[in-house]
Amino acid sequence: MTPSTDLNIPLFERAKALIPGGVNSPVRAFKAVGGTPRFVKRAQGAHFWDANDQRFIDYIGSWGPMILGHGHPAVVEAVQKAALEGFSFGAPTEREVELAEEIIGLVPSMEMIRLVSSGTEAGMSAIRLARGATGRSKIIKFNGCYHGHADALLVKAGSGLATFGNATSAGVPPEVVQHTLVLEYNDITQLEEAFALHGKDLACLMIEPIAGNMNFVRASVPFMQRCRELCTQYGALLVLDEVMTGFRVGLTSAQGVYAKSIPGFAPDLTVLGKVIGGGMPLAAFGGPRAIMEHLAPIGAVYQAGTLSGNPVATACGLATLREIRKPSFFEALSARTQSLVEGLKAAAAAEGVPFSADCEGGMFGFFLLPTLPQSYPEVLTTDSARFNQLFHGLLDRGIYIAPALYEAGFVSSAHSEEDIAATVAAAREVFKLLAK
Ligand code: PMP
Repeated sequence: MTPSTDLNIPLFERAKALIPGGVNSPVRAFKAVGGTPRFVKRAQGAHFWDANDQRFIDYIGSWGPMILGHGHPAVVEAVQKAALEGFSFGAPTEREVELAEEIIGLVPSMEMIRLVSSGTEAGMSAIRLARGATGRSKIIKFNGCYHGHADALLVKAGSGLATFGNATSAGVPPEVVQHTLVLEYNDITQLEEAFALHGKDLACLMIEPIAGNMNFVRASVPFMQRCRELCTQYGALLVLDEVMTGFRVGLTSAQGVYAKSIPGFAPDLTVLGKVIGGGMPLAAFGGPRAIMEHLAPIGAVYQAGTLSGNPVATACGLATLREIRKPSFFEALSARTQSLVEGLKAAAAAEGVPFSADCEGGMFGFFLLPTLPQSYPEVLTTDSARFNQLFHGLLDRGIYIAPALYEAGFVSSAHSEEDIAATVAAAREVFKLLAK
């Protein structure tokens, strides 16, 4: 493909004239890796086709939702049927109740749930609920975790534990982030100091249990346990942002993974998105009845949405969840993801490229680093020029991974052994170039 025949290029030019950066969400623009984004025409199973009708093996899956791959027949049928019955009513439907029952039946920490339309909305609403329920203002978040683009969450660490964060976006006044304390992920000492200083004023601690917004970094078991203990001790709510990990790393989500190592482990609030909508705009937050009943119309914490619990989105989410809870779904998905990760590790080792990788369920991450990083500053020690070479090398070979080194990857049940083998073979070719 030469620049003069690449049909993505004129499309990007048209888009840039009308849409800031040519995209409706920044990371799609290839800004970090350079080059022209691929404009997707259609997708099926583990693959999508761009403007040139070139096929790619898709490891983004809409950044997580497409756990069954694209166009799963049961999901398509459910969506088509729902669309014929009506797009949106602004009045309750049975399907919302069914989806609530389905989610709560799988994740026991939630007794009640509220459906919304995006992860941003869910995270923002969970914080408001935590503040309303505790009567406190301050919140803890961690460097490298992303919880959507609500003002109070677009924050990086301030100059010390006694001071609060600085906004990471223009347009967020300092007053709006003055209650957000940003700590280093997996740093127990700093966590304990922060609670000792501010514990009684904290409404909640929000965390990605496996942080997919710094590629793939697990909260260590002792760190997660300490988060739980300190929240309980000081009366702050532990909020797990499982927008990415929810029904992606396992049927009981990341909280189920931690409960295997920490007996009785459960968050106070859970934030969900992505997989629960199966590719439609749908997200949620939930927790114990005593906390959730602070929400309007029964409680004093206001929260609402014209399209919340949308009938087509709930049909899509329900059909997706009903597929993933079939026996051995996650065993098969985990094995497939594992074979990708092991294959990539072996390919890098064979070419002498420093490399580390990890996965859980259908979510994975890899680093051009000899050992797995534990925090965002460690992730950022990656040589970005080498990552960009890897990204473009794979893209040229029809493999589509996230166009930024701090994003996780996703395997779906539609990825075949052949897809994995083709990916590993392509990666080996690129590793050979990187080793030179
Ligand atoms: N939380 C996490 C952990 C996420 O990964 C994301 C999005 N990638 C969000 C929240 C925000 O979700 P949305 O993009 O649907 O607003």
